[in-house]
This record gives sequence, structure tokens and C-alpha cells, in this order.
Amino acid sequence: MTIINGKEVSQKLKDDIAAEVKENGYTPGLAVIIVGDDPASRVYVNNKKKACAYCGFHSEEYALAENTTQSELIALIERLNQDENIDGILCQLPLPRHIDEKAVIEAIAPAKDVDAFCEADVGKVMIGNYTFSPCTPAGVMELLKYYHIDVSGKNAVVIGRSNIVGKPMAMLLLHADATVTLCHSKTADLKDICRRADIIVSAVGRIGAVSADMVRDGAVVIDVGINRNSEGKLQGDVDYEAVKEKASYITPVPGGVGPMTIAVLMQNTLKAYKNNKKID
Ligand code: NDP
Repeated sequence: MTIINGKEVSQKLKDDIAAEVKENGYTPGLAVIIVGDDPASRVYVNNKKKACAYCGFHSEEYALAENTTQSELIALIERLNQDENIDGILCQLPLPRHIDEKAVIEAIAPAKDVDAFCEADVGKVMIGNYTFSPCTPAGVMELLKYYHIDVSGKNAVVIGRSNIVGKPMAMLLLHADATVTLCHSKTADLKDICRRADIIVSAVGRIGAVSADMVRDGAVVIDVGINRNSEGKLQGDVDYEAVKEKASYITPVPGGVGPMTIAVLMQNTLKAYKNNKKID
């Protein structure tokens, strides 16, 4: 069994980006907006800022109060859309309930939508011809590639059908010629479906969503879930200790998919910069 080291792979991606930026004197800029004081969001935003500094990007943080109105937030985004020093804009989700996430996502100029959340980007991912990669699913694909895990012709099961993880994950696996089953909370016989899988990607957000009896010997198990256990520690969806005895490859939480999401965000920001500056 091999433990997939997302820290190592993401480090390599960030090193490549930092080297390219330094060598060419590029100045990509990322604006990160956070509304309210959700502690998990704060950690993610800090990690994104750190990654920007590491890659030699310019980053700007906009920390807005919980009671910021939707029109104030959209006005900020519209200003950043026009700002030539900013190539990518991301608005950390979730947003407070009084703000319509969809309206906010759609306010970001497509050329700066480095999270690839807007409808146009989602549609492009479905077709397979996209500018910005969906960060978490593309991070998973990078891990599979790095470990030479062949996807073509394999049975891949994705658990979770959110617009930001499950659905684009299924599409990227499909584009890589896997035979994909996309499961969700209404799926009947989840255990049987998973037992036939060569590759399982869990994006549920519930501790214990994938137990050892759902995994066949030699399967590849990718855990996207980030949960807090009763001791307040980070834990994935997968029953890691038991499943690692059966899996051929497994991602830990933390240190698996999480760092990859940020590395792909950096790739997208560099791509946005090059597109905006018309650099090949
Ligand atoms: P959502 O809550 O949007 O989606 C969860 C999905 O899981 C839904 O499709 C839901 O089904 C499905 N689900 C819930 N319960 C079950 C069940 N018992 N059996 C099968 N499916 C079930 O979450 P996200 O996609 O945004 O995130 C998923 C997890 O990934 C979270 O823990 C999140 O924190 C983490 N995450 C990690 C990232 C990383 O970088 N590592 C990035 C983004 C997210 P239904 O649609 O029927 O409700």
C-alpha cells in the first residue's frame, strides 16, 4: 500500500510555478475575498495567501464583515474585475446566508474566475475544453498522474455530486476514459457499487462515509472530505486505518487532496495572468 503524499506533489507544482514566475519576471495577482469570520474559511484563506507568497504572486485580501450586503460585495468584485494588477478573484465559500452565492460567483469576470465555479467554466469542464481547471478535482487528477495510476478503462466511483467537487470530478475521470459512477445520498446499494470500484473518490463531508467493507482489495482510495472529529482534529470521510489495509493507494487527511487544491489554484492564477497579458 502506498500513501499518496499530496504535500510532496503540491510542493513540486508550486516549485515549478515559482521558478517560471521568477525566471520570466511575471507578476500574477490574486484577490481573495472572505466575508465573516468562519474559522475554517480563515485557515483556507491564510493557506492561499501563503501559497501566493511562495509562488511569487501578488495577493490582496479583502476581509469583509459578516453583515456586508450582497451589493457591496458585488461592487468590490466589479472593481477587481477592472483592476489590471489582479488576474484572479476568489470569494471564499460559504458566504453568509443573506448573500446569494450564485450571484456572487457569476459577478466574477470569467477571465478572472480562477476557482472555475461560474456556469461558463462548469459547462466547459463538461465539454472537456476549459481554461481553468476545477481546483480540487484537477488536484486529484494530478495525484493520480504523479503516482502513474492508470485511469483509462477503470471503474471509478465518485461519492458526492456537488458542483465544485463531485460533478467536475466525475467529468475529469470520464475525460481520462474511466467508467464513472456518480453517487449521492439517494444512491441505493452504495456499498455494492463501491466494492466494484477500482478507484473511489469520496467527497461527502462525513466521517466514516467510506468503511473498509466498501473497498475491494487493491482499490485506489482518494479522500476529499475535510471534517472535524470530536477532538477537533481534521479527519477525512474514509475510515483510514482500516481502509489502508486493503487499498493499493490512499490519500491521508490532512496532507492528501487539500494541498493539491491550492496548487491548482496557483496554476490557474498563473494561467489567468498569461492570458490577460497575452503571453503564450
Ligand atoms: P456538499 O455538502 O456540497 O456535497 C456533499 C455530497 O455528498 C452531496 O452530493 C451529498 O448527496 C453527498 N452525500 C451526503 N451524504 C451521503 C451519503 N450518506 N452517501 C452518499 N453520498 C452522500 O460538499 P462539497 O462537495 O462541497 O464537499 C465535500 C467534502 O469535501 C467536504 O468535507 C468538504 O469540506 C471537502 N472539500 C475538500 C476540499 C479539499 O481541498 N480537500 C475542497 C472542497 C471540499 P446529495 O447531493 O444527495 O445531498
